[in-house]
Amino acid sequence: MRLRFWGTRGSIATPGPCTTRYGGNTSCIELTEASGEKIVLDCGTGARLLGNQLLAASDGSVSATILLTHTHWDHIQGFPFFAPLFAQGNHFRVYGPEGAHLSLRDVLAGQMEHHYFPVELDQLAARITYQDLGEGTHDIAGLKITAQQMNHPSPTLGYRIAGDGCTICYLSDHEPFYEAIWRDGAEPGRLESILEPGDRRHAEFMQGADLVIHEAQYTPDEYPAKEHWGHSTYSYVVKLAAAAGVRRLVLTHHDPSHDDVFMDAVEQLARGLAQRLDSRLEVTCAYEGLEISVQPLVRRGATPVEKCSSGSASPGSGSACSSTGNPW
Ligand SMILES: [Zn+2]
Ligand SMILES: [Zn+2]
Repeated sequence: MRLRFWGTRGSIATPGPCTTRYGGNTSCIELTEASGEKIVLDCGTGARLLGNQLLAASDGSVSATILLTHTHWDHIQGFPFFAPLFAQGNHFRVYGPEGAHLSLRDVLAGQMEHHYFPVELDQLAARITYQDLGEGTHDIAGLKITAQQMNHPSPTLGYRIAGDGCTICYLSDHEPFYEAIWRDGAEPGRLESILEPGDRRHAEFMQGADLVIHEAQYTPDEYPAKEHWGHSTYSYVVKLAAAAGVRRLVLTHHDPSHDDVFMDAVEQLARGLAQRLDSRLEVTCAYEGLEISVQPLVRRGATPVEKCSSGSASPGSGSACSSTGNPW
């Protein structure tokens, strides 16, 4: 499976000179299976450029699955600007969590009512189906996709995606269930030592994944002022992923107040924490244009070798932007 990040920002799009390297578009990731089948993970503003690219690369109709974690703006606002939806002959299957009061389709139609947007959902020319998802394992686009509720103010699903011999988790948005991670007297760093059952279940969901993409909107210092807003800190995510034996972790859904300089520091702190935990966990902060290829595990004897590789543009270096604060 291959992944490309088209939007890495949480809450609201944040364009400008201070976010050029990590990007200002909200959540959107393109997943390409070995068969060539496409899955769009969330439809934040990054979906606009992805849609344009899919049209440009197509020699006929465009077909894809759209898998939404939830329907907060930063995960659906690119949907009405996803150009392939406007063309006859294209085909999309949209999946997302069943809402508290409305179906997924009706929630998406709501943001396209004429008060907000000139084209209503039913006027889109492509053939589109909508399916509400609950917890459990679903056969979608030739993959086994297991959905599990996240801890977030709106019904939200995290996804464990298995196919092509690999397992990827996409977990956004999610807040720790409890401030302490480890049980008193228990050995830290082990799944069974996690104190709160919800946090343990969350860690178990990512157990052994080749790649986990997880939101990490806040730093530990910022978190007390943002409690119950529905988001994680990088330290919570790194500790759980390390305990779960995850090989590679990509942090995303960056806070709008975190500029490129701040994000560089977050990445260093997250990597330093992973090292101090004595884990093999590789940590990267996602940036627009980041491409990752996840390959099936190859074994030489009993030693696992290369599973993930990154490509594409590096986020570059040098920035005229000053940090908005310190991430520690
Ligand atoms: Zn979000
Ligand atoms: Zn949200």
